[in-house]
Amino acid sequence: MKVTALAGGVGGGKLLVGLQRRLGSDLTAVVNTGDDAVIYGVHVSPDLDICTYWLAGIADTRKGWGIEGDTFSVIDGMRALGLDAWFNLGDRDFATCLHRTARLASGATLSEVTDELTGRLGVRASILPMSDDEVRSKIVTTDGRTLDFQEYFVKERTAPEVAEVVISGLPGAVPGPEVLDSIAGADVIVLCPSNPFVSIGPILGLGGVRDALRAHPNVIAISPIIKGAALKGPADRMLRSLGAEASASGVARLYEDFVALFVVDASDGDQVARIESTGLRATSLDTIMGDHAASERLAAELLELT
Ligand code: GDP
Ligand code: CA
Repeated sequence: MKVTALAGGVGGGKLLVGLQRRLGSDLTAVVNTGDDAVIYGVHVSPDLDICTYWLAGIADTRKGWGIEGDTFSVIDGMRALGLDAWFNLGDRDFATCLHRTARLASGATLSEVTDELTGRLGVRASILPMSDDEVRSKIVTTDGRTLDFQEYFVKERTAPEVAEVVISGLPGAVPGPEVLDSIAGADVIVLCPSNPFVSIGPILGLGGVRDALRAHPNVIAISPIIKGAALKGPADRMLRSLGAEASASGVARLYEDFVALFVVDASDGDQVARIESTGLRATSLDTIMGDHAASERLAAELLELT
C-alpha cells in the first residue's frame, strides 16, 4: 500500500514515525516549507528537519524539534558576542542548515537537498518539500504588525493574537516535482494532525494540490485539536481568532471539500455525530501519540480503516 502524508512539524513527525514503521519506503511525506527562513545566514527548514529527524530516529522527542543530545555551542558563542540569538539551533542542526545553504547556493533545488539529507540520515520514507519555490507564512497581528512566521512562533512565542495568516509567494509557487504524482499515485492520503493554517494550509494553497485531493477517493485527516485544545502550539487560538470553532469539527469543516474520513480523538467521541451531521464521515481513535509505539498503533488503525 502506498501512502502519501501531508505534514507540518511535530504533529506531522510523530504520526510519520508510525506510518514509516508500517510502510517503510512506501510512505511519502509532503512537508510544509512555509515556515522556512534565513536565520544567521543559513536556510532553516524547521518542518522538513523535524520530520527528517523524527523519521531518522534522532529527534529530540521531548522538545519536539532538533536532534537528541545536540549541543548549542554556536548559539552560546553568538550570545557571548552580545548578539540577540533568539532562534535556538543546535550545533548538529546547524550542520544540516549549513549544508542545505551551500547546496542551494550552488544551484541544487530544495527537493534535491532534502533527498540527499534524508538519505544520509537513513530515512526510509521519501520526504518531499511541498515546493522548491519561496513560500512564506506571515502573521498579521491584531495590533497591526506583520511578522515573519519564526518571529511570531519563536521570538514572540505565539503570544500575539492573529488577525490573518498571509502565505506570501502563493499563487506563483508550484508544488515540488513529485508532489502531485505522489498524491495521485497513492492508495491513501493522510493529513497528519498538523496546524491547519500554517502547516497544512500552505500545502493546500499550492496550485493543483487541493484539486488533486478532491479527485482522490481516500483522504483521511486526523484532528490536531482534542477537547477544544491543541496539545501544543497555537492551533486552537488561531481557529478562534480566524473565525472558526476551536474543535475537531472546526478543523473538519476546513477540509470538508476533499476528506473522505475525519478522525477525532477517542476522548472527543461527541464530535463524531457533529461532524457526520454535516455529511462527512467521521470516526474516533486514540490519537495521542505519547511514544513511538502509540504512533505505530494509530498508524496501523488508520491503515485498517481504508
Ligand atoms: P509544528 O509545525 O511543529 O507546529 O507542528 P504541526 O503543525 O505538525 O503540529 C502541531 C499540532 O500537532 C498541534 O495543533 C498539536 O495539537 C498537534 N499534535 C501534537 N501531538 C499530537 C498528538 O500526539 N496527537 C494529535 N492528535 N495531535 C497532536
Ligand atoms: Ca512548523
